[in-house]
Amino acid sequence: MKLLFEYPDHGKTLSILPELDTPMAEIPDVIRRKSPLRLPNISENELSRHFAELESQTFGVCDGFYPLGSCTMKYNPKINDEMASLKGFTDIHPLQPVSTVQGALEMMYTLERSLCEITGMDDITLQPAAGAHGEFTGILLIKAYHEKNGDTDRTEIIVPVSAHGTNPATAAMAGYKAVNAPVRDDGCVDLEALKKLVGPKTAGLMLTNPNTVGLFEKDILEISKLIHDAGGLLYYDGANLNPVMGIVRPGDMGFDVVHLNLHKTFSTPHGGGGPGSGPVGCKKLLSEFLPVPRIVKKDGSYDFDFDKEYSIGKVRSFYGNFLVNVKALSYILTLGAKGIREAAEGSVINANYMRKSLDDLYDMAYPDICMHEFVMTLERQKKEKGVSAMDFAKTMLDYRMHPPTMYFPLCVKEALMVEPTETESKQSLDEAIAVYRKIYEDVMADPEYAAKAPHKTPITRVDEVGAARNPRLRFEF
Ligand SMILES: *Cc1c(COP(=O)(O)O)cnc(C)c1O
Repeated sequence: MKLLFEYPDHGKTLSILPELDTPMAEIPDVIRRKSPLRLPNISENELSRHFAELESQTFGVCDGFYPLGSCTMKYNPKINDEMASLKGFTDIHPLQPVSTVQGALEMMYTLERSLCEITGMDDITLQPAAGAHGEFTGILLIKAYHEKNGDTDRTEIIVPVSAHGTNPATAAMAGYKAVNAPVRDDGCVDLEALKKLVGPKTAGLMLTNPNTVGLFEKDILEISKLIHDAGGLLYYDGANLNPVMGIVRPGDMGFDVVHLNLHKTFSTPHGGGGPGSGPVGCKKLLSEFLPVPRIVKKDGSYDFDFDKEYSIGKVRSFYGNFLVNVKALSYILTLGAKGIREAAEGSVINANYMRKSLDDLYDMAYPDICMHEFVMTLERQKKEKGVSAMDFAKTMLDYRMHPPTMYFPLCVKEALMVEPTETESKQSLDEAIAVYRKIYEDVMADPEYAAKAPHKTPITRVDEVGAARNPRLRFEF
């Protein structure tokens, strides 16, 4: 399809700017452009069609099965958006006097309390704009804690090799050395190996539980004791909270600080770069370091408290992605305590149903019962037939099905990671299973065809390495 710039200019313009009602400002010659702006000149009709066509070529949770492992692409109930479009939430300004926005503050306060309840934390900030941003905020809390205690020799954050790439990146951004902890063949952290890594240099450990291969770290209480005994703190990467929410709490597992990905677990839309929300909760011992302002409730009304001597400061303008937070609270209140637990259980049942329905064809990286997602490995097929996980994933596009996560986690070779989520029905899972089985036959029968897949999409196999190494970010006229 054509870019807007490539439409022929037939003199029809789309101008809906109102008449100027202020005096025209004089623009100094030095900054005045010498040639006219190169804007596409098309009609409103063409513009609408252009974007409708683009829309028809994208794929979202409302188009079909979207089992992107580690991303929790669940259906986002429309009521969340309805709540977030209420005038009382959209037509306010962050600098308005707090007496005029009590409802907005109550929303944030209620969300904070709900998330503390769900995670077992004492305090929380809604400021971080995504998971990675939450990690950075959380590790800064740990750093501030050690610094206040004069404990400045702690220079290391331990991160299992199975961790999401943002974990070691966060540790490095916060000025720590990321130390890799090995993972056993069963997919969980190697406790014996971990013991050798923990010591007086340990500032903390970052852990995802269930971890990034979809397994619950059953040794978590021992891990927690090990780190705490050494004077370190425990960071919970909450991206995988979905299968345990309402059942077990990070706070009770011994974690001191957590981030949540509201755009994953709490059903606010994501993809395409945001906006997201990555609240950070912590136990009392870290509360004083949380970003300002804190929301406080006094005598039945709400206010902001900026006066926190040990706060790490602000991590984002104003109060976070406010409307994303409205959507998350809407979801939490819609489900209630019982519904949250049921959602968690559903995600585990769906993942295991699909895993068991495929494990005669596809090799599972770990044979155990999984939580909300499972990892398949196509290492054997690669050796035998030269087909890759990428070929399987790209072939799925020809069935108008979104592929699972590819090549993550890094500790599994030729990985495809499937997270069906609780919002899929048995029927849609059965359809997906049938397609996965069909694709297996297709790919194995004709590896050469699969190597060029997809064949039926507007754009076929792209040069992903080239796009990453030599990106062309501007249209060349
Ligand atoms: C998604 C994810 C992150 C990062 O979260 P963003 O919201 O994308 O910044 C971190 N850790 C894990 C395990 C994740 O799945």
